[in-house]
Amino acid sequence: MKKLTLFYFLAVLMFLTSCSGINTQKIHEDFEVHTLYSNISNVHLVRYYDSYFLVDAGIEGEEVRIENQLAALGVNGKDLKFILLTHGHTDHAGTSKYFKETYGIPIIVGEGDLPMLLSGKNDSLCATSFLGEITRLFVPAQYPPVEPDVVVSESINLKNYGVDGTIIPMKDHTEGSLILVLEKTAFVGDLLRGKAMAKNTPALIFYQCNLEENQKNVIKTLLFNCDMWFTGHFGPLKTSRIQSWLESKPYN
Ligand SMILES: [Zn+2]
Repeated sequence: MKKLTLFYFLAVLMFLTSCSGINTQKIHEDFEVHTLYSNISNVHLVRYYDSYFLVDAGIEGEEVRIENQLAALGVNGKDLKFILLTHGHTDHAGTSKYFKETYGIPIIVGEGDLPMLLSGKNDSLCATSFLGEITRLFVPAQYPPVEPDVVVSESINLKNYGVDGTIIPMKDHTEGSLILVLEKTAFVGDLLRGKAMAKNTPALIFYQCNLEENQKNVIKTLLFNCDMWFTGHFGPLKTSRIQSWLESKPYN
C-alpha cells in the first residue's frame, strides 16, 4: 500500500510540475482568457475590451511568477481593475493581499468566505476521491489574511468596472463560492474541475462537503447557456462535455 501511495504521489507530482505555463483562449476580438497554470491551481487573466482583471490569485509565494506571466502578456499589475476570488481557499486567494497592497487592486469575494479571508485559513476540506487525499499534501495551510473591498451576498453586475458580466453566489464548495458569467463564458472556480491527465474532461472537484448542492449548482450553471467553463484546476471545459459527464451520473 505504501508503494502504491508513493507511486501516485510521484505521478501526480510529475504531472503537476509539467503543466505550468500560459494557455490563451480567444473568445472573440475583445475577449481573451489567459490561464496562468501553476503546479496547483489556475489564475485567469481576462482581457475584456479595455479592462483587465484576474479570476483567482493562486497560492502565497506565486506573486513573482504571476507578475512575470502578466509582464510576458504586456500587462502590469496597475492595469488590473479587480481580482475576483471564486472562493477563499489558500490555493485561490494566496497572493491577494500582495496584489491589493502593491497595486491597489480591489478584491471581490463572496460573503460566506469572509472568515477565511480575514483568517487566511481554509474551512473543512472533504476529499471526494483518493486524488483529493493526495492533493491535500499540496494545499497550503494558510495565506496572508486580507480585507476584501467588495463582499458579494447576491448576484451583482460588474458594469462599474467596465465588465458587463454577472457574479452569482454558488454556495457548495465553500459558503461564499462565486461564479462569473460573462457573455457565453463562465468562470466557475471549484464548482467542477478538469481531470489531471485529460484537462478538458470534467471531474468532481477534489473537495466537496455537499455533493447534493454541488450537483444542483452544476445544473443551475448550465442554464446560463455558456459555451465554455473556466475552472480553478485544469480545464477549460466545454459545456457539451459537462452535459455528457452529468449523463454518466457522477454523483450516484
Ligand atoms: Zn477550493
